[in-house]
Amino acid sequence: MDYEEYFADSLSGLRAEGRYRVFADLERKVGDFPRAVRHVDGKTQDIVVWCANDYLGMGQHPEVLAAMHETLEKCGAGAGGTRNISGTNHYHVLLEEELADLHQKEAALLFTSGYVANWTALSTLASMLPKCLVVSDALNHNSMIEGIRHGRSEKAIFRHNDANHLDEILSRVAPDRAKLVAFESVYSMDGDIAPIAEIVEVAEKHNALTYLDEVHAVGMYGLRGAGVAERDGLMDRIDIIQGTLGKAFGNVGGYIAASANLVDFVRSNGAGFIFSTSLPPHVAAGARTAIQILKADNSIRERHHERAATLKSRLTAAGMEVMPSVSHIVPVFVGDARLCKIASDELLDRHGIYVQPINYPTVPRGTERLRIAPTPLHDDAMMDGLVAAFEDVWTRLDLRSAA
Ligand SMILES: *Cc1c(COP(=O)(O)O)cnc(C)c1O
Repeated sequence: MDYEEYFADSLSGLRAEGRYRVFADLERKVGDFPRAVRHVDGKTQDIVVWCANDYLGMGQHPEVLAAMHETLEKCGAGAGGTRNISGTNHYHVLLEEELADLHQKEAALLFTSGYVANWTALSTLASMLPKCLVVSDALNHNSMIEGIRHGRSEKAIFRHNDANHLDEILSRVAPDRAKLVAFESVYSMDGDIAPIAEIVEVAEKHNALTYLDEVHAVGMYGLRGAGVAERDGLMDRIDIIQGTLGKAFGNVGGYIAASANLVDFVRSNGAGFIFSTSLPPHVAAGARTAIQILKADNSIRERHHERAATLKSRLTAAGMEVMPSVSHIVPVFVGDARLCKIASDELLDRHGIYVQPINYPTVPRGTERLRIAPTPLHDDAMMDGLVAAFEDVWTRLDLRSAA
């Protein structure tokens, strides 16, 4: 076999489909978010980033940076080990206490990313709970799917956000079996939100555990920023809340929050937790500061929601097909992988507007889109620039009639 030819052919296929991924080479600049510098063809270009998951700009918050600098000077670069072997730093312990308090749970457990948190927690529960059936929302994130798959228990998929279908599935399961319902709050590609109350009600009726991925909601929903379950008054009825430190908290890392016994169980059995070096202490300190700031100040969230609502109505008024999102996500429908990539390239090259194209397999074919994530730091002038750039590109590519 000619391995090189195989790899090259496979990549050509992706290019022909418009699905080949090209990274924008960016330098984020403290004090200037969401502006950044793009490196392209040996030159630099000033751009505005419209697709960052640092949803609230906490990645540049002065207090967060101060906490990180201070801890870096105090504790050094890395944690020095896995949690079990000299890698539990006091800042991990403080952060876990902070997270448990945020979600009003007995305990929390850190992982090196939200991906690893989902993968480890779900695979551990699915593989070890007796005769476990995992029931998973059809649009769950890859990290949950892979964790469930690795758990090798029986699994079933319920139609997206359909509590009745979940009820049908659970009604057929023997009462003595363990059952785990896995779903998300904010689905970040469409921007829709799960009917958490209905799902919890069904799960309680069948004595199933609930596992809620709040990755796109922590920091951003609820009075203290604990997520949609907090906003809806349902936090105490969710068994396991999973989140990331990498999106609205502006850093890196992931976690679960749950009962003390459940957390201890995953801590004691989860391979993705046990066998990996823990987060650097200064990361833990920075994330904790971001959580504390967002816990205390709801005005950042109000401004964020206002920005998203304003952008949705402005793009709609300009004739763009904004997909029906009830969250901070503003997805603009294109419906063709190649056109989606061209539109994104033109926005960036001609207008310095960076919005990443979202293509298969992240979303189904034929639903390709540009996914905009406005932050509280995107001001009116930036929004004027974005809308004008979209109008120009949509006219040039004749996208209004295509839609
Ligand atoms: C990004 C994401 C994750 C993974 O979190 P990371 O901290 O980026 O690894 C998990 N779930 C969902 C829904 C996500 O979008």
